[in-house]
Amino acid sequence: MTIDLYSLPVTKVSGVKGKKPEELLALGITSVGELLDYYPFRYEDYTLRDLTQVKDGDKITVQAKIAGVPQVQMYGRMKSRMSCKIVVDGLFITAVWFNRHYLKDKLSAGSEIILTGKWVQKRMSLTVTEAEFPGRGTSQIGTLQPVYSVGGSITQKWFRQTMKQALLQFGEMIPEVLPAELLRKYDLLPRKQAVSLLHLPGSMEQGQRARRRMVYEELFLFQLKMQAYRALHHQRADGVAHPVDLPGVRSFVRSLPFALTESQKNVLAEILHDLQQNYAMNRLLQGDVGAGKTVVAAASLFAVVKAGYQGALMAPTEILAEQHKRSLDRLFEPYGIQTALLTGSLTGKQRREVLASLQMGLTDIIVGTHALIQEDVFFRNLGLVVTDEQHRFGVQQRSILRRKGLNPDVLTMTATPIPRTLAITAFGDMDVSTLRELPKGRKPVKTYAVGHDMLERVLGFIRREVAAGRQAYVICPLIEESEKLDVQNAIDVHAQLQYAFPEYKVGLLHGRMTPGEKDEVMREFSAGRVQVLVSTTVIEVGVDVPNATLMVVYDADRFGLSQLHQLRGRVGRGEHQSYCVLIADPKNEVGKERMKVMTQTNDGFEIARRDLELRGPGDFFGTKQSGVPDFRVADMVTDFEIMEQARDDAAEMVRRPDFWTGAGYASLREYLQRERIFDNDLMD
Ligand code: ADP
Ligand code: MG
Repeated sequence: MTIDLYSLPVTKVSGVKGKKPEELLALGITSVGELLDYYPFRYEDYTLRDLTQVKDGDKITVQAKIAGVPQVQMYGRMKSRMSCKIVVDGLFITAVWFNRHYLKDKLSAGSEIILTGKWVQKRMSLTVTEAEFPGRGTSQIGTLQPVYSVGGSITQKWFRQTMKQALLQFGEMIPEVLPAELLRKYDLLPRKQAVSLLHLPGSMEQGQRARRRMVYEELFLFQLKMQAYRALHHQRADGVAHPVDLPGVRSFVRSLPFALTESQKNVLAEILHDLQQNYAMNRLLQGDVGAGKTVVAAASLFAVVKAGYQGALMAPTEILAEQHKRSLDRLFEPYGIQTALLTGSLTGKQRREVLASLQMGLTDIIVGTHALIQEDVFFRNLGLVVTDEQHRFGVQQRSILRRKGLNPDVLTMTATPIPRTLAITAFGDMDVSTLRELPKGRKPVKTYAVGHDMLERVLGFIRREVAAGRQAYVICPLIEESEKLDVQNAIDVHAQLQYAFPEYKVGLLHGRMTPGEKDEVMREFSAGRVQVLVSTTVIEVGVDVPNATLMVVYDADRFGLSQLHQLRGRVGRGEHQSYCVLIADPKNEVGKERMKVMTQTNDGFEIARRDLELRGPGDFFGTKQSGVPDFRVADMVTDFEIMEQARDDAAEMVRRPDFWTGAGYASLREYLQRERIFDNDLMD
């Protein structure tokens, strides 16, 4: 019979009593299984070292013989320095103790001692932190000691002891979760051995090997959850199978002012295929800035409307919603497709009218901000939701729609490319379509990083572009002057530029303006009546004014790489050569690194990869609710190859019919059960 270690209370480990169970609870440990899963985050190295191999400053442990009489110098009553000659491997060195002169009597010449401390190469001395006399009690010498994240009254020593005890009592009962074929394929340690070695490795190599096994397991189980979820989602078959009029969509595409890129064609085909299936599409569309995601979304919406359903397009800001509404109207005009705009600034009678015609089905496509699907909005038959933003269309939104009796297809478009590892993690439950190329004829934006002393030249640059009939953006990190931050603010810069260019119109845009004001400025800029637009990052995502050819970013070192790339993506959208000028403090190291990346490449996928490296997964999306899990052992950046492998393995596994029934996979199915993957309510 196997015992479930996760339902075995941690008090079964001898020594866990009194206040200890409660203190372990604070670490999230209630069961034996959870205790054993509490891994160290590093090891203290007490393995004996060869003095000829160590470097200055290394923390080392050596076995020595006392070779002299300890010399003590007192500084006041408590402070002291004691030194003593010792021999290590036939080498004479000096051991130094601070404030530990009471040990003096124990250091008798000729006796053996084991010392741990910091090696000072120059003086051939060891500054001792721990001393041990052989043969007395348990020794940590010659071992790697695990270091756990513990606190309060739980000490490392007690925790190590308790872990040892737990391994002794229950180590043999740790069950395997991975199928034998995977263990063989990657030469992975069995689970019980890996857990035991993670806590008590004999060497760093063993620790590494144990870690590799646990990293694979963690990533594989995570990916299995995602892949199983996807497979079940498809099987549920409770979505709308749109009768898509393919020739109709084709002729719509032909009516566009340009030919689709190969990438756009492929991605559209993937989407149209999904739309015709009887499961609800859950697809991520990613592509570099300017790759042309909007038109793909438009063609998809067109297909759904022609199939007799309604569509919704959600944008992150009102400015973008308005822009989308205008471009959809332009495209759909000849087809008699009715669109409407629903944003927070729409109120009263107008709002009621929009809602009524949506509910009656007079409106085919509704464009707006997130509020679109969350409030008192009812559809006649919603078939497709497109979200144009970086954040995923979450469980919550889906369940709101479900409650309204709707289960539409969902297409989520990301604003910037996502590194592959992040895509398969944060969006692992979705199907992913990627636009890999930009429309032909795009000239890469020329990017320059300059210091603040170049401002005069930057002004000259703006003048030159505007005089040639082009337009410019100037981005500032702040809206108005701040006492705390010494960075440019939009209000001051706007005043300066208007003063510098009296013959042109300089616009101002920031988040504290009313939606109406913002919209007004944006419309003036789009129409070319405003030549220079000073803005905060509200402009960041999606704005499309092809005549704008210059992007100036003040205090560019205050922005992340993906954000800078997104800002740069506002130019280079038309036929003219475009430029991006990043004004940054050359003394800021982090900023310098980013400026280097920005001037080196225009490739959004490459920039995303570097951004992930520089910032780490948690910060990449700029939000903690990004869907990126906190892995216990795995590191998404350094373990990316294992992550990809695990993803492929998991995807392959759920495709096998015997995975869902075979005895060899029972432990994996139990895991999925525990993670409530089969639970319908949580299936979103
Ligand atoms: P993004 O992927 O950043 O959202 P958009 O959809 O805004 O990009 O497209 C960027 C610009 O490229 C728009 O002006 C759009 O009309 C244009 N565009 C899209 N697809 C093509 C194409 N295949 N050929 C030429 N221009 C295109
Ligand atoms: Mg876009």
